[in-house]
Amino acid sequence: MHEFSIALSIIDIAEEIATKEKADQIQSIDIEIGALSGVVLDALKFALKITVEGTILGETQINFFPISGKAVCNDCNLRFETSDLLAICPGCGGGTLEIIDGKQLRVKSLTV
Ligand SMILES: [Zn+2]
Repeated sequence: MHEFSIALSIIDIAEEIATKEKADQIQSIDIEIGALSGVVLDALKFALKITVEGTILGETQINFFPISGKAVCNDCNLRFETSDLLAICPGCGGGTLEIIDGKQLRVKSLTV
């Protein structure tokens, strides 16, 4: 489960920021999770629940912001939402798409 390594890197980021801000506590952290990131939200929540104990995020409110996947068709330029990396364009049936949103998994903001 790579959600565990993602959870650990989120903790790393949080600890880095806390050190920089000289904070010994983080109130809340907002995490953007794209529909096309390949990360299963429930698995990540579970991984975080286990890994944050005793870390800077132990008492932190963790908020998740799902980002829907968006693609643009290279053939007809149609933009559409998708949760499938191998989607087919609903406009022209073409398969050459560029994913323009939804692949990210990142710490959006953090309150100390
Ligand atoms: Zn198309």
